[in-house]
This record gives sequence, structure tokens and C-alpha cells, in this order.
Amino acid sequence: AALYRVDSWGAPYFAVNDSGNIAVRPYGSITLAHQEIDLLKVIKKVSDLKSVGGLGSQFPLIVRFPDVLKTRLESLQSAFEFAIQSQGYESHYQGVYPVKCNQDRFVVEDIVKFGSPFRFGLEAGSKPELLLAMNCLCKGNPEALLVCNGFKDAEYISLALLARKLALNTVIVLEQEEEVKLVIDLTKKLSVRPVIGLRAKLRTKHSGHFGSTSGEKGKFGLTTNQILRVVKELHGSGMLDCLQLLHFHIGSQIPSTALLQDGVGEAAQIYSELVRLGANMKVIDIGGGLGIDYDGSKSGNSDLSVSYGLEEYASAVVNAIRVVCDRKSINHPIICSESGRAIVSHHSILIFEAMGAAAPTTPTMDQINIPTIMEGLSEDARADYWNLSDAAMRHDNETCLFYADQLKQRCVEQFKEGTLGIEQLGAIDGLFDLLTKMIGGSEPVRTYLVNLSIFTSIPDFWSIGQIFPIVPIHRLDERPAVKGVLSDLTCDSDGKIDKYIGGETSLPLHELDGDSGGGVNGRYYLGMFLGGAYQEALGGVHNLFGGPSVVTVLQSDGPQSFAVTRAMPGSSCGDVLRAMQHEPELMYNTLKHRAEEFCGFDAAVLSSSLAHSFHNMPYLELASSCSLIAMNNSGF
Ligand code: PLP
Repeated sequence: AALYRVDSWGAPYFAVNDSGNIAVRPYGSITLAHQEIDLLKVIKKVSDLKSVGGLGSQFPLIVRFPDVLKTRLESLQSAFEFAIQSQGYESHYQGVYPVKCNQDRFVVEDIVKFGSPFRFGLEAGSKPELLLAMNCLCKGNPEALLVCNGFKDAEYISLALLARKLALNTVIVLEQEEEVKLVIDLTKKLSVRPVIGLRAKLRTKHSGHFGSTSGEKGKFGLTTNQILRVVKELHGSGMLDCLQLLHFHIGSQIPSTALLQDGVGEAAQIYSELVRLGANMKVIDIGGGLGIDYDGSKSGNSDLSVSYGLEEYASAVVNAIRVVCDRKSINHPIICSESGRAIVSHHSILIFEAMGAAAPTTPTMDQINIPTIMEGLSEDARADYWNLSDAAMRHDNETCLFYADQLKQRCVEQFKEGTLGIEQLGAIDGLFDLLTKMIGGSEPVRTYLVNLSIFTSIPDFWSIGQIFPIVPIHRLDERPAVKGVLSDLTCDSDGKIDKYIGGETSLPLHELDGDSGGGVNGRYYLGMFLGGAYQEALGGVHNLFGGPSVVTVLQSDGPQSFAVTRAMPGSSCGDVLRAMQHEPELMYNTLKHRAEEFCGFDAAVLSSSLAHSFHNMPYLELASSCSLIAMNNSGF
């Protein structure tokens, strides 16, 4: 377990249990043994659910834990409540969840339900996000905020005004100066009094990858002069009382509380100035940025790590606002935050299988056939060989490797010219591998093929180099014998994970040794953790590998301590083809007619096999799971 630093990045939600499996602690700690869920048992159970949703054991698989979501939400709320109480702050915290982090219906519905007792709301950044937020908040607390961010046209603003008419506590946050005119016009047309916020472009700059949204040159928000003009415009239209919220966002993964306090302090000054200018200010919305310590180092010195926890974050925010407001003698505002990453990252785990490992093929000394090697070598190459042998006798490893490398290169050149046979080239490769292994002393890093598309399921790794903890979910009581890198199914050289937490370029892995593995049918399962935010919506269909299957797991009192409450198969080949405008039904008919034309008696069997191919997921299927989907879906 120490090899994978599970306790550092995983506590208090993930640990390794006595069976050497990853255990999930949905409530963030355990008081009773049954409050711990063995992840491998979940996988076994899911593999038995042959008929649920036609799922079978279809990987990759996202396992969602709504209980973890609830715990995260409640922990964030308590952190702010504690800071507010202990600092004598005279208003309350009322957060919103930015749905962009994970728009999955059940995730958003759960957040609204779990957050209802403390008026937790939603943030939307586009029209479809607003539609889903409006729908979900109909079942939420009536005071919960619905914060409308993002670039807006008349339709977006009309929709937000409609939301207000539907008695949803909606705030239209102006991101661009032009939006104010649209809001004023549409308000008159639709005769509804809006609540308006504005997004300030702060001078405070966060220097990490996610900080490009911040600073004077940041993409979003109003500059000081634009804020002044918007205030004037609202005042001129008799709507300055509608301006009630100040929003800013210095970027995701804010590395330290020092930077946070700097930004929040600057925003609190703007807030107090808006009060002075006559706006009816009530809420300060500090945006997202509450970070995740992906590598567990707590160092705060890269996009991978933050140096604070929920309590320190909340305390820094409350303090920064309180100090400014007290100095200016203005009322303490309601504090809103738009934490997404911090709420949803822990709640889901991506499980995928290692299908095979490219085994090392280094020959032994006996297997190296020197006469074969010497056949056809050029004079120069022969000289390299003898120099290499001399160096080996003298135990001069450096010289030995130098000549081995030179010999190999000369042989490759000879092969390209057509003066060396493929057997000789193979023998030279073998000699080179053997020498590097003997001198270097280490086993070469192996490549494990995983049944996954990085582009679909871990898009941030490919696009921005984001590193997530990846760990085998079982056999953690067994020392891994191999170092490996994970290579996905796509025909793309970027489809490879060769960076891991702790700055490692390979991952300790176990041998894939069939049934002795203790998994399910001897399979080897890996989990990608802390990926509940952003990955699902950002993933594409490169190579037409679609979305993974999803199951939801709830804590229960039964003997297994959990229940699988929902199972959805991932996208089928038909689904991903449809996403690219192909028409699977027509494609099937064309191919079926062709089978009837060319294959006579076999046509029916071939057509049914074709239908299965359209219905199955694009990922590789191991023998036992292959037939499950096929049995459930015969023909279109
Ligand atoms: N609010 C806004 C305006 C954002 O742009 C973002 C994401 O970048 C968030 C909230 C969520 O940020 P985080 O995931 O860091 O909490």
C-alpha cells in the first residue's frame, strides 16, 4: 500500500484492507467495520449482475459512491460553519455546485437532495446546463441559489428570467459588459425583477495551469472600468437594487491559502466599493478553486497538490472577507462558493482491466548464437563486436555498452540496405537486450495493455498532463514484481500513461498470472481515483471508444455492507457510430442483405453476429463476458 501512497492521497475515503484490497469508507472514517466497502467485492457483484441493464461484466466501469458525495458536501458545509462560528462571522455560507464538473443526472440530483437541508444550490455556465439546473432545483430548497455564469445571449438571459418567474432563486451573473443591456431590455419585456451579479476580473493571479483565467489578462470577467460602467447603466435604469452578488474565480486548484486570501481580500474590497456605490449587495461568490491533493504530498507546489484542507480553506475565506468588511463597517455578506472538483472528485472510481503485458523477451547467454551474428557483418560491425568482447572481459561496462549500441546501429543500417538478414538482426537485438539487462541490472519496464481509452476516460491526462492516482484494487498484500506503463486500446501514441504520482515514470504492477491473482476469474483490475470531476464530460470518442459502464453503490446494513442500486452499460458500437452521423440500423440492413447474397445458409448466423457487434461495447471482451450482451440483444 505504501508503494501506491494510498494513505496520503486517499485518506479518509480509501484504504487497503486486510485482504489486500482497496476499501472505500464512504463516511470518511470507520467507526464500524461494516462501514467499509471492499471494492473487489463490488466488482465481483457487478460481474454477477448479468442481466441488470444488459451490463454483464463490461469494462471500463465507473463505480459511483453517492455516500462519498454526501460526505464531501457535508464536510464542506461544516468547514464553513465552523469557520463562521469560530470567527464570529455574522452571516452564513451557502454554496452552489458548478454542474460542469459532472453533469450526470444522478450526480446533480443527489447533490441537490443532500444539500437541501443547508440551501445548497447549482451553478450553470451554458443553456443546457441552466435547463438541467432549473429542473433539478425544482426539488431543492427554495432558497438555494441558481447562479447563471458563462457567456450569454438573449435566449440564455430569457431562460434565467423565466427561472426567476418559476420562483427559483436565480442570479444572472454578468460576464461581459454587453450583457447588462440585454438584461435591462429583457427584464422590461418579461416584466420580472432580476437578481444580478457581476463577475470581476481580479488582479490577483494564480500561476498554475488553471490560473490562466485569472489576472488582468484573464479571459473572463469585468475590468474595474467595466464594473463602474455597469453600475452606472443599472443606476440609470433604476435597477441598481438588483445588483446583489459579486462573483470571481481565480482558477481551479488554487495551490495555497495565501493566494486564496489575496484574491478573496481583493474581491471583498470590490464588494465593499459596490456597497458604497449604492448596490444592494448581499452575496460574495468566490467561485471554484478549492483543490485536491492528487499526489498526497500537501506540497502545494504543482497543479497536482494543494497545501490545505477544507478547514483551512474555509477559515482563510471567512477571515479575508471579515477583515475587509469590518474595516469598512459593512454587513458581512452571505458567502457562496462554486466548488466542483472538491465535491465530486472522490465519489467515483474508474475501474479497468489489464489485458496483457508485453513480456520481456531477453534471451539467455546460451541462446545467443555468435556464428549467426557474425554472418554477413560488415568490417566495421565486426570491429565493434570484438571491441565489445574485449570491454566485457575487462568488465568495462561503459565501453561495452558504447560498442553494443554502435554495433546495433550499424546492423540496422545494414538491414535497411539489404545486406543483413532478419535472423542476424534478431540475434543482434537479443545480444543488445541481454547486455543492457546484465549491465543495467534492472528488468525492463513492461507495457501493460489496458482495456480503456485514455482519450475517453482520462482526457485530462492526455490534454493537460493531469496525473491521477492509479492503483491495482487488489493484491496489495503482495509485493508487485514488475514495473509497467499502461497502454490503452487506441491506435495513438498518446494513448499511454507514463507519468504517475510521485514523479514516477512507471507503476509497480503484479504479474498477470491467471487464476492465482485472486481477482475475479484471475483478472487484474486497476482503479483510477479522484477522477470524478471533469473527466466524464471532457472525454471524446477517439477511435470510437465510447463512455464506460456506470454502476452506483450505496452503503447498506447487509452482510456485504453495500448494494448495487443502478447499472448502466457503456456506449455500444451502435451508439458511437450514431454520434458520428452513421446510421447503425441502415448499416446493419446493408450488411445483412450482403450476407444473404454471399453467404447462403450461413447468412442468419452471420447477421446475428453482426447485430451483436453493433450492440456490444467497443472495448475488448474477455470470453466469459462476451456472450452476455449478445444474449440480451438479438437483432435490431
Ligand atoms: N466556477 C467557475 C466560474 C469555473 O470556471 C469553475 C471551473 O473552472 C468552477 C467554478 C469550478 O472550479 P473547481 O472545480 O476548481 O471547484
